[in-house]
Parts: sequence; structure tokens; C-alpha cells
Amino acid sequence: MIKRKSLMIIILVLISVVSTLFLYAYFSDNRNIESPPGEVITLKFEFTNLFLIPIKKGYILIDNAYEKEFGKFLDYLDEYKIDIKEIKYILLTHHHDDHVGFLNQITSENPEASVVLHRRTADLVATGFNNKTNGGGIVNRRIYILFKMKQLLTPGWDLTFPPYFVRENDLVFDNDVFDLSNVVGINVKAIYTPGHSSDSFSYIYNNKYDSWRSLINREVEVIIPSHGKPFNIKNLKNNIDSQKQENIAKFF
Ligand SMILES: [Zn+2]
Repeated sequence: MIKRKSLMIIILVLISVVSTLFLYAYFSDNRNIESPPGEVITLKFEFTNLFLIPIKKGYILIDNAYEKEFGKFLDYLDEYKIDIKEIKYILLTHHHDDHVGFLNQITSENPEASVVLHRRTADLVATGFNNKTNGGGIVNRRIYILFKMKQLLTPGWDLTFPPYFVRENDLVFDNDVFDLSNVVGINVKAIYTPGHSSDSFSYIYNNKYDSWRSLINREVEVIIPSHGKPFNIKNLKNNIDSQKQENIAKFF
């Protein structure tokens, strides 16, 4: 009897430790989160945020989620009254299971969609599992705890996904910085940002001040322009986003 009682206590303690850790991991994210620009639609999945960016004749989709979340993805499209055929380009940030899970499902429902991905991602996405070498798998502590919890609760979760093989109308690029503007018709640039995975890419969207920002990033102190007076970089940092879109005109 006593044995049973102490077993119960141990189980209860374990449950409370696990749930406390889960709650801590889930709610301890108190970063200041900026929303994406108004026209970008965010679709939230279990671990992944997907983004739909409007273009002239449809949308760019950034990433996929897990394979089993395709139904949820279709529900989102219904909710926003978007036909799956309106997705013209699918951009991938990296090859992991929570980012490429339903790639085959989307491209079989909408074969016209073009998957845009770097050669590294193309190679890794064809293997069907998360690459753990070359620095793959780095996450912050909060995500680490969430992933450990998920592993406990879903024993079948094995970091694999249906392999995807590049098709004829996909676009594989080789450069670490690649301007996609001519491909997708809006201002988007892919830049190689390895760390979390060996094939991680970020997409810079609608950046109106590329040249100014490159000066800020190079830690320039004073700008001596060909037109007008020299000014300190601090003035540029303070004013770079103050120009309203409607005040920008094309002269020639
Ligand atoms: Zn990942």
C-alpha cells in the first residue's frame, strides 16, 4: 500500500515538473515582437510561422510546416479566400521537417507553383531527414525545452519528412546573396544566414534603403556625399525609416 502511494507521489511530482517546464518554455518568450508589414499574412502552425506575401498575380509563400499540418494550411487558405493555385512561388528558409513537410502536397495540388531554393537546400530536402552535421540543429534554450517536451509526447517524431525532388519549374540558385526581384516581381533578396542549419536563408523583403543600410552595417562614421553637406551616421540611423513611401518618386 505504501509502495503504491509513493509511486503515485513520484508520478504526480514528475507530471508537475514536466508541465512546469512546458509552461515556462511556452510563456517565457518575452521578446518585443514586431509584426510583419500589413500586407503580409502570417499563418501560425505548431512550431512554424508561414508567410504569404502578395504579388501581382497571387502570392509568395515562405516555408511549409509539418506534413500532418497540410489540412490546417488548406483551412487557412479558405479563411483568407485564397486559392492554392494563387501561390506562385514557395521560398524555403531551410530543409527541416517543420519547414518543408507538405511541399509535395502543395506542388501536387498546384504543380505550377515554383519552389525557389538554394542548391544546399535542394540537396538536403531530397534526403528526407534533418541534417545534424555541419552545425545543424542549433536552437535557443526555450525551443530546446519545447522540442524535448514534444519528443516525450510524440514518440513517432523522428525529424524526418517526405523527401522533395526539384522539378523542372523550380528555381535552384547557387549564390549566397541572390536578388529574387526579377523572378517574383517584388523586392525580395535571399541572403545566406547559416547557424541553425547549414542551409539557412533569410529573405529581405521590400527593403527600400539597401544602400544606406549597407553603410550603417559597415560602421561608417561620417558620410561625405557628392550632393549636400557631410553628416554623421547617427543622423542616418535616426531618419532612415522616417521617409514616407508616398514621398518617394522616380525621376528617371
Ligand atoms: Zn529548423
